[in-house]
Amino acid sequence: MRKIKSGDTVMIMRGRYQEKGKTGVVERVEDQRVYVKWMRIVKKALKGKGFVEKEAPIDISNVMVVCPSCKKPTRVGIEQKDGKRYRVCKKCGAKLDK
Ligand SMILES: [Zn+2]
Repeated sequence: MRKIKSGDTVMIMRGRYQEKGKTGVVERVEDQRVYVKWMRIVKKALKGKGFVEKEAPIDISNVMVVCPSCKKPTRVGIEQKDGKRYRVCKKCGAKLDK
């Protein structure tokens, strides 16, 4: 089970990113990388069409989920109940998924 999903709010905790310490919403998760909306914008050249601005990936180990209950960046725990697995905030214990 993935600890970070699209739609999560994450904070960039470490790494050489200009956006360190900022929060954003995950758009896409790919293997060990996440794309966060409006974070790490890079300009990409399009043939004959100038440039587009796009998100560059961030290593998943450099971000933490911001808990919607306690509003703090937290590690994610996985709990199991009635055969269902769900993600919980390690700080306050709140469920991260509705
Ligand atoms: Zn929490």
